[in-house]
Amino acid sequence: MNIYDLIIVGGGPAGVTAGIYAQRARLKTILLEKLGVGGQIILSDLVENYPGFQEISGFDLMQKFEAQAKTLGLTIDDCEVTRVTDKGEHKIVKTPDHDYMAKSVIIASGSKSRRLGVKGEEALIGKGVSFCATCDGFFFRGKDIVLVGGGNSAITEALYLAKIVNKVYVVHRRSELRAEKILQERALENPVIEFVWDSVVEEIIGNNVVTGVVLRNVKTKERSELAVGGVFVYVGITPNTEFIDLEKDENGFIHTDRSLATSIPGIFAVGDCRQTELRQVATAVGDGALAVTSVERYLG
Ligand code: NAP
Repeated sequence: MNIYDLIIVGGGPAGVTAGIYAQRARLKTILLEKLGVGGQIILSDLVENYPGFQEISGFDLMQKFEAQAKTLGLTIDDCEVTRVTDKGEHKIVKTPDHDYMAKSVIIASGSKSRRLGVKGEEALIGKGVSFCATCDGFFFRGKDIVLVGGGNSAITEALYLAKIVNKVYVVHRRSELRAEKILQERALENPVIEFVWDSVVEEIIGNNVVTGVVLRNVKTKERSELAVGGVFVYVGITPNTEFIDLEKDENGFIHTDRSLATSIPGIFAVGDCRQTELRQVATAVGDGALAVTSVERYLG
């Protein structure tokens, strides 16, 4: 069996950066990615906080990452990693088609959107319930919609949708947003965006298509109905870490030390899938670079 120095699991900003650094370190490396290089950031219409690019779409940014990695000769295989197991000196990375073996692994598997978990959500996905404004926003042209959440994703996507739809009701469970101040300022002064504070969506209504939501004010406990044609959910992320047994926090984010080492020697974790204070392209890139330095030290 082909033994790699390094297998990178995941092709978002952290994983591709690790690939670039590994190629430059002349490590025998392969990157495994199930959905094509890019990660969650390709769902972002606009990235304004990655230095060097005043304004760029997440998709265009990741095309540049990929081109740079491929110019350096990084091998990228399209396949889903189903299991990573530790055999001491070697690690086995399983995919549906075959097993890969490496001396070290960097987990860069990122995250997926968290669900609200309310009545109507699951049944109406694709029928008015969406987790991706850039993918689906077009279908809601001229309609009134609800967007749930108060973080960076919620407010970035509310601003994007405000250019397409008639009205964006941002339903947030508190009266203070979590998003960056500059995003808050823009959203608060946008006439298309209306905030529904201290409120949660209790139910999404619709037979075959979304027709409204049931809201509950968490302070007054009052319930009300709002007629809308769509619901966009941005209530945080869940890490893609089910395929590996490592020390994780209660939400599944992988514990790492300062060198990005995990609880298993030779396995490192980077980007959104690890327990960290900040999840941005800029921090993911830093993780990717640091992890390869740690891999080099580990391989000796
Ligand atoms: P997030 O920062 O965790 O925010 C999740 C939001 O959803 C919070 O406002 C939270 O409310 C709310 N929420 C959570 N569970 C809820 C529930 N059950 N019902 C109603 N509301 C709920 O998640 P995110 O916005 O998806 O961002 C994920 C990470 O990516 C973050 O680290 C973020 O900074 C980063 N990101 C960065 C950028 C950028 O820099 N341009 C863009 C997008 C995302 P509370 O505030 O009350 O907790």
